[in-house]
Amino acid sequence: MKKVLSFDVDQTLNIAKTPIPDEIADLLIRCLKNNLQICPISGQKFDQFLVQIVDPLKNRGVSPSELKNLHLFVAQGTQYYRYNPDQEDWTKIYDYPLKEEEVKKITEALETAAKELGFWEADKLKDGDEIIENRLSQVTFSALGQKAGTKEKYAWDPDCKKREKIVEKAKALAPEFDYEIGGTTSINAIKPGMNKKFGMENLLKQLSVEKSDVLYFGDMTQPGGNDYPVVKMGIDTITVRSHEDTAFALRGILGFLSK
Ligand SMILES: [Mg+2]
Repeated sequence: MKKVLSFDVDQTLNIAKTPIPDEIADLLIRCLKNNLQICPISGQKFDQFLVQIVDPLKNRGVSPSELKNLHLFVAQGTQYYRYNPDQEDWTKIYDYPLKEEEVKKITEALETAAKELGFWEADKLKDGDEIIENRLSQVTFSALGQKAGTKEKYAWDPDCKKREKIVEKAKALAPEFDYEIGGTTSINAIKPGMNKKFGMENLLKQLSVEKSDVLYFGDMTQPGGNDYPVVKMGIDTITVRSHEDTAFALRGILGFLSK
């Protein structure tokens, strides 16, 4: 039996960039109650984990002792947070930030690549939004910014072709970094090896579990996708198209547990 359920976030637990739906929150709480360790790993920042996962769980009545079974692997697991029930707050366990000059080089490469290809959509940004964001352990390109509507985001690059071209150009400009396609409009730039494999390896260490103890859920499990490094490690993976698929699989697991 698996001890750890690990999840990509956008399009695996939710509609990209939105809070997890009540149905997913309720299923995750049932998993936490059953002492399954729940480990979301995503390129998002810590604040987004709170908005998208923790707050919806609180709204559905998760208890502090259940939150102890929730492990937040932020920025593809290059940062790790655990809940401290005494302080009712999150403690950062580790962090691997990029250096300032690395952030600068990636930012320039992505901006130049997108501009040369005509995919720099600065005119479509909402107030205060930005295309390239420094997430400390990674730099993330979001073609339409963070605040764009879901519909526009889905329509921007459904076959990933635009992002594949940006990645190719950025890689030529700053070849010492890796570029991964994720979410609906995003590219994550990282130091080689600082991908979900790095996060997953740290997860195994931090939770003192074996690969075979983990079941992973992701929507970008194809080669080049940001969930692929986990698949390549040999972790059992369920590829989902959306949170509906994830809910379906979780109901199956919970049904089995209650037998
Ligand atoms: Mg995803």
